[in-house]
Amino acid sequence: MKCVVIGAGPVGALAALYAARRGWDVEVYELRGDLRDASTVPLNFTKSINLALSERGINAMRKSDSPKLVDAVLSETIPMHGRMIHSQDKKGNVTEESQLYDVHGRFIRAVDRANLNKVLLDELEGLPNVKLFFHHKLTGVDFKVKKAWLERKTNGSPQTADGAQANQNQQPPARPQEIEINFELILGCDGAHSSVRYHMMKYLRMDYAQTYIDTLWCEFTIPPAKDASQPSPSAAEGFATSPNHLHIWPSDDKMFIAIPSTDKTFTCTLFAPAATFAELESSEDSLQTIFNENFPGVVPGLISPSALHSQFTTNPHLPLISIKCSPHIYSPGGGVILGDAAHAMLPFYGQGMNAGLEDVRVLFSHLDANAADPQAALESYTAERVPDAHTINDLASANYWEMHSGVRSPLYLARKTVEEF
Ligand code: FAD
Repeated sequence: MKCVVIGAGPVGALAALYAARRGWDVEVYELRGDLRDASTVPLNFTKSINLALSERGINAMRKSDSPKLVDAVLSETIPMHGRMIHSQDKKGNVTEESQLYDVHGRFIRAVDRANLNKVLLDELEGLPNVKLFFHHKLTGVDFKVKKAWLERKTNGSPQTADGAQANQNQQPPARPQEIEINFELILGCDGAHSSVRYHMMKYLRMDYAQTYIDTLWCEFTIPPAKDASQPSPSAAEGFATSPNHLHIWPSDDKMFIAIPSTDKTFTCTLFAPAATFAELESSEDSLQTIFNENFPGVVPGLISPSALHSQFTTNPHLPLISIKCSPHIYSPGGGVILGDAAHAMLPFYGQGMNAGLEDVRVLFSHLDANAADPQAALESYTAERVPDAHTINDLASANYWEMHSGVRSPLYLARKTVEEF
C-alpha cells in the first residue's frame, strides 16, 4: 500500500508510524520545515505550547508497536495531579486551592507539543519505508484518480526525489515548484484549515460546520522561581508555583492558565473576549489593571509588568475555532481526514491532540480488522468516529464555563447566583 500523509504534526507523525509498522510505503509531506531544526517556528506559536497529555493519547502511542516511543515521550512530561485554583480572600490575600483530578491518584501530564512531535519524527526517521518531505504544501487532490499536487519550496538548488535527507539543512524556501504524486491512501492530518478536507469536500456530500467563539488567546511565560519576584505559596522544586498542577485563575469572562515545563517555566494562556483584547491593545495600563483585578498574584509576583507587556505585544493574539464534519472519509475509498482536520475543538477539555492521536489508533484497528476490504474498514471507521468526535467537541465547548467559573468554590457560585437573580 502506498500511503501519503499530509501534515507532520503529532497526528500525522503518529499516523505515518502506524502505516509504516504495517509495512506500507509511507510518504509524509509537511508544509513547514523540520521541527527538529532550531530555526523552525511552529505555526501559531512563539516557540511551542505545553499541552495536557492524557491516557487517550498515550494509549494511541502505546499501540503503535514502537516499544521505546512512550517512554521517550513520558520521560519529558510532568505529572499534573489536579488543578490549582488561584483566587483572593476577602482581605485581599492570594489563595490557592488544589482540586485533585482523581480519588485513585490518576493524573494527566504536561507535555511540550514540539518535543512530542520531535520524538515521533525521530521514530519515523529510522524506518526504511518512510520518506519525510518538508517545505511541501498540498495544493490539490484528485480523489478519483488518486493523485495529489504539492508546491515544493526550493532555494533554487536542483530538485531531487529524495525525502528527509535531501531536505535537511535546506535554506529557507524561495521559489515553489509543483510536483505530482500518486497514492493508494491519503491521510489528511493537516490541521484545522485542512487542504485535504477542502479538496475532499468537492467530491462528496460532506456536512461541515465551523464556529469561532468570541474569545482570543495569547501566550505568556512564568519564569523559574529564582526569577519570579514573589513565588506562590505552593512553589516547589525551582518552579514559581506548584509544578504538579494545571493552574487556573478563573474570572467571569476571562481566564488565565499555566502549565509546567521541564525547564521550570510555565507556559501560560490568557483567554478573554475579543473586546477585552481590543481594549488591552489600545492601552498599556489596562493590561496590568486587568491582571490585578482578575488574576491575583500573577503580576508582579510571577511575571514582571515589563515581561507581561512585552509578551502581550510580541506574541500573537489568536482565535479559537471549532469544526465538525461528516463523513471523515472519501467514498469509494482512498482518503481519510484525522485530528484537527476532522474535528478541531476548543482547548478547554485538553483533548484536541489526544483525540487526534486516538483517531489514528481507531482507524488502524478498523483497517486491521478488515484488511481484505479497506473501503469497508474506512466506512466502519467514520461511522464509529464521527459521533465520538462530535461529542468530545461538545464537551470541550461546555468545559469553558467549568474552567473560568465552575472551578470556583460552591460558596462563591451560590453567592453569585443569589446576586444575579
Ligand atoms: P496540527 O498540529 O495543526 O498539525 C498539522 C500539520 O499540517 C502542521 O504541521 C501544518 O504545518 C501541516 N499542514 C497544514 N497545511 C498543510 C498543507 N497544505 N500541506 C502540507 N502540510 C500542511 N490538545 C490537547 O490534547 N491537550 C491540550 O492541552 C491542548 N491545549 C491546547 C491549547 C491551545 C491554546 C490550542 C490552540 C490548542 C490546544 N490543543 C490541545 C489542541 C492541539 O494543539 C491540536 O489538537 C493538535 O495540535 C492537532 O494536531 P494535528 O496534528 O491534527 O494538527
